[in-house]
Amino acid sequence: MATATVAKKHLIAGATGEWEVVIGMEVHAQVISKAKLFSGASTEFGGEPNAHVSLVDAAMPGMLPVINAECIRQAIRTGLGLNAKINLYSVFDRKNYFYPDLPQGYQISQYKYPIVGEGVVRVDLKDGESFEVGIERLHLEQDAGKSLHDQDPNYTFVDLNRSGVALMEIVSKPDLRSAEQATAYLSKLRSILRYLGTCDGNMEQGSLRADVNVSVRRPGEPFGTRREIKNMNSLRFIRQAIEYEARYQIDTLEDGGTIEQETILFDPQTGKTHPMRSKEEAHDYRYFPDPDLLPLRLSQAEVEALKADLPELPDEKKDRFMREYGLSAYDAGVLVASKAAADYFEEVAQGRDAKLAVNWVTGELFGVLNKQGLSITDSPVSTSALGALIDLIANKTISNRIAKEVFEIMLETGQDPAQIVKERGLEQVTDTAAIEAIVDQVIAANPKQVEQLKTKPKTIGWFVGQVMKATQGKANPQAVNEILRAKLQIGEE
Ligand code: ADP
Ligand code: MG
Repeated sequence: MATATVAKKHLIAGATGEWEVVIGMEVHAQVISKAKLFSGASTEFGGEPNAHVSLVDAAMPGMLPVINAECIRQAIRTGLGLNAKINLYSVFDRKNYFYPDLPQGYQISQYKYPIVGEGVVRVDLKDGESFEVGIERLHLEQDAGKSLHDQDPNYTFVDLNRSGVALMEIVSKPDLRSAEQATAYLSKLRSILRYLGTCDGNMEQGSLRADVNVSVRRPGEPFGTRREIKNMNSLRFIRQAIEYEARYQIDTLEDGGTIEQETILFDPQTGKTHPMRSKEEAHDYRYFPDPDLLPLRLSQAEVEALKADLPELPDEKKDRFMREYGLSAYDAGVLVASKAAADYFEEVAQGRDAKLAVNWVTGELFGVLNKQGLSITDSPVSTSALGALIDLIANKTISNRIAKEVFEIMLETGQDPAQIVKERGLEQVTDTAAIEAIVDQVIAANPKQVEQLKTKPKTIGWFVGQVMKATQGKANPQAVNEILRAKLQIGEE
């Protein structure tokens, strides 16, 4: 039943009935490692062109590749994080093609025997829908260099800094059914990689990019022919590209046309996809095992040791936040999406009311960070300062409303919340005699409203507002309510 409703939600209406879009992704994730996959050159981003190039990366004759063990460990960690099978036997192959930024004339990759086999990723959407995406495989390969066409009017230059950097290609099964699911999957994958510390997930710098395969079909029919949108590195563009492409395929098929399997590009300027290369240029990579590298053999013990060392991953953390702090699935999901945010929350929640902590972190603080375009690691408010503010609310020194004012002042001045409250006299008035005196004044000054209250008891809220105003928001709202109801003889709602 649940599956049927979920599928329904993702259907697209065409002129002749409903269609289902089918998506599978090939994600390239740059491995975090100091050195490249088969050489000792640095992987640092943004150096002078060709500053990080060894003789191996430049493909000088006679050079031999040597496997970087850390890249292998990173791939295994990633496989474990994707709940995938680690293959103890894998093989590096040569994928042959000619391109100016590929001096070897081939890329070392893994074809028939990848290091990681089938796995599964759980993805939760904001509306509560949860789905699983099958992982087909993960293999290691070398990145290519970069052609620079904009340096000189007559020449193209080549920067080999990226040549030989380790990439993990993570191939999903065609399990995704909407642009929303596809971007949520990629976000989840990025989050897992960041928790693992195996890829920085920086899409703008190209550390994480995806080829997005899209086809359409009538619900229940076999898969249609796919077109592959190459090299996407923005979640927003991926969503736009899938939506455009699905509509294009539906329109083509409904007009009696056919879809050819081909490679396409998305143009963010026009919002459209267009073919990249024609079939005549279709590649024949002539894969064969690289004779310079022995097959890679791992021991189960190595894999187990890496498994024992894995950090807590987003799914486990989410479950723990719900269990330990009593958070809703939604709140827990928002927090664990970023490890830094989850850590921040845990520090604030330590020894405090978790509900207050989550509201302040995901509400006020995230609001400010969003507005200022900051990430949680650059938060202008430290965990101890926010914790101190929450303590003032919890021990009733200030009301939640005043706390929001104090928070604004903290942002402006960087002052400590207790100091702000003290200097500005913002302590909550809980002294009932003082509140009673103000309540009496408000009642005496507003006979018309008192009269009206007899038929409309809901207007008590207006009186509460007046008293709060008279105390500059410092009266304890609960005390005000109780005193007003007693004096005006209105029962509890
Ligand atoms: P190839 O070996 O030709 O590259 P794969 O079977 O490896 O093809 O698939 C590549 C990607 O395309 C995978 O992510 C897979 O999920 C996806 N894919 C395969 N068939 C379809 C389809 N009909 N519609 C959408 N995506 C698909
Ligand atoms: Mg493929």
